[in-house]
Amino acid sequence: MAEIITERASVGVSACLYDCPVRYNGKRFDAVSKLGRERGDFVFTPVCPECLAGLGVPREPIHLTGTGQEVLAGAAAVRDRHGRDVTDRVVGGARAALDALDRAGAVAVVLKEESPTCGLLKARTGARRRSQVTGAGVFGAMLLETGRFLIPDKAFDSALSWWDWRRRLHAWLWLRERPMRTNGDLTAAWHVVKFVLQETDRAWADGMGRRLASLPRKASRETLEALRVEMLDALRTPTTRERALNALWKTYTHYRKRGKLDGVDLHELSVRSPEVRRNVTTIAAELTALERIAFENDLLFGTSPVIYRDGRRVRAEDR
Ligand code: SF4
Repeated sequence: MAEIITERASVGVSACLYDCPVRYNGKRFDAVSKLGRERGDFVFTPVCPECLAGLGVPREPIHLTGTGQEVLAGAAAVRDRHGRDVTDRVVGGARAALDALDRAGAVAVVLKEESPTCGLLKARTGARRRSQVTGAGVFGAMLLETGRFLIPDKAFDSALSWWDWRRRLHAWLWLRERPMRTNGDLTAAWHVVKFVLQETDRAWADGMGRRLASLPRKASRETLEALRVEMLDALRTPTTRERALNALWKTYTHYRKRGKLDGVDLHELSVRSPEVRRNVTTIAAELTALERIAFENDLLFGTSPVIYRDGRRVRAEDR
C-alpha cells in the first residue's frame, strides 16, 4: 500500500518559469502551466534573485567568472556586459530569495537551468550526488548548500519526466519527515523507497541493503541519520525511459496475475507490452493509471511509493 502525504508541497520556483516577465530582456517562460490540473497539488513561491538584487527589468545580462560556488567563496565574480562588478548585489538578491523560500517553508525548488543565477547544472552532465554537482549559478549554489530538493526546468519537458520527478519529490518529502529513532524506523522507511532506488541505481541500492542488514543491534542516531541522508540524496537521481518502462511492465504483469480486484478488471487496463513502441506521454499515462489502480485497491506500487492526496478528500472518504 502506498504511503500518503496530504499536505500540498511548498515549492519555490524561478519566477521566469512561472510566467513572470522578469528575465533580463523582459521575457518569461510558462513551464509550470504544463502541469495542468496537477498544478493545484503544490503551493508555488516564485522568486527572482536578480530582481531582488535590484538589477531591474530590462537589465544587462550578467555572467560569472567562475562557478556559483566560487562566487560564494569570494574566488570569482559576477559581471555585467560592460565588465561592471555586480557580485554583492547578486549575492544579496540570492540571499533575499532564500529568505523568502525559508518563510514559505519551500524545501523543493524548480530552477531555470543555465542561468548564471538560478542555474543548477552547467557542467558535468550526469552528475548524480549533490556533492558532485558543479557549476551551479549563484542562487543554485546557495540552495545546494541548504540540501533542498532541486528540480531543473527540463523536468517539465515530458509527461514521463515530470512523473519521475514528482514521485521522487513526494518520496523525498516523506522520508525527510519520518521519525528515525531505531533501526526498525530506518528499515521500514527503506522498504518504502527501495523500489525507486533499485530502479535508478541497482548497485547502490544493493549496497545499502547490505549495510542495513549489518547494522549493530542498536545503531546510534547519528548512524541512522547519515543513512537517511544518503537515501535522500539517492532520490535526487532521475530514472531513464527504459527503466521506467521495465518498472511499469513488471508491476503490470504482477497485477494481471491477481485478476479482478474490487470491480476493477486489471486485464482491461490499457498497458501495452514492452516491445510495443509508444511515446513518453503514453508511458506516463499508463504509469499514472497503475498508480490509481494500486491506490484504490491497496496494492503495493513500489514504483510510486508515496503519493499526494488532498487532505480534505481523504478525510471525506474516511467519513
Ligand atoms: S533565471 Fe532566475 S534570476 Fe534569471 S530571470 Fe529567471 S528567476 Fe530571475
